[in-house]
Amino acid sequence: MAALVTLRLGYLYPDLLNLYGDRGNILTLVRRIRWRGLDVVVREIGLGERPDFAELDLVFIGGGQDREQALIAEDLAGVKADGLRAAVEAGLPLLAVCGGYQLLGRFYRTGDGRELPGAGVLDLWTEAGKRRMIGNVVIETDLWMEEPRTIVGFENHSGRTFLGPGCRPLGRVRVGGGNNGRDGGEGAVHRSAVGTYLHGPVLPKNPRLADWLLERALERRRGTAGLAPLDDAVEVAAHHAAIERARATRR
Ligand code: GLN
Repeated sequence: MAALVTLRLGYLYPDLLNLYGDRGNILTLVRRIRWRGLDVVVREIGLGERPDFAELDLVFIGGGQDREQALIAEDLAGVKADGLRAAVEAGLPLLAVCGGYQLLGRFYRTGDGRELPGAGVLDLWTEAGKRRMIGNVVIETDLWMEEPRTIVGFENHSGRTFLGPGCRPLGRVRVGGGNNGRDGGEGAVHRSAVGTYLHGPVLPKNPRLADWLLERALERRRGTAGLAPLDDAVEVAAHHAAIERARATRR
């Protein structure tokens, strides 16, 4: 009998970056792994630690306000950046939300003119704007072919993110502001790394996105995704309810 696969999830700065229930993304991944009869361990990674990112199967970093971002920016761009960048280039799946998403870019210029260094994992940069983008969001993605190709969530950021040629948007905005309120893009994708402004948390209401990340993790680990389908009726109903609510509360 083949040995049971144990997926290793890395959770960056869990005590500093956890806005709007971002931790729910970890809970969703853990559940969806266990429902497939696979095993999982979550490794929490804090300030000063230099983990071997290549040994992990999937990494998550959540959102935070400027204060928390300032506390971790140098650590992320310092002891962690090279290892994380190399692992992502080699195919490590990663999900980054809002504040964490911003700090994986080249830099984040805050409202008071400070420049927080980015880890340079994603080819993008962020500048604070005057107006906050707050509210429900619906985007359409081409990351997978099956319906629903929508991703739903909640955004609350003043940062405007602009993508360089090294990544492409996660989706096109149907409702909400997205990366910068201007170019119609939301989030970023590079190899198996996904950045997004969507809180919620994003994965419970978007099971296809959760499985996209898990498929990439399993492919990298054992050469084939082989992810058994789940009954996602409740999750898909929540997804569609969120789309309706976003349309009804459109700004
Ligand atoms: N401080 C960042 C901004 O406002 C990120 C906020 C967040 O993670 N929600 O743009």
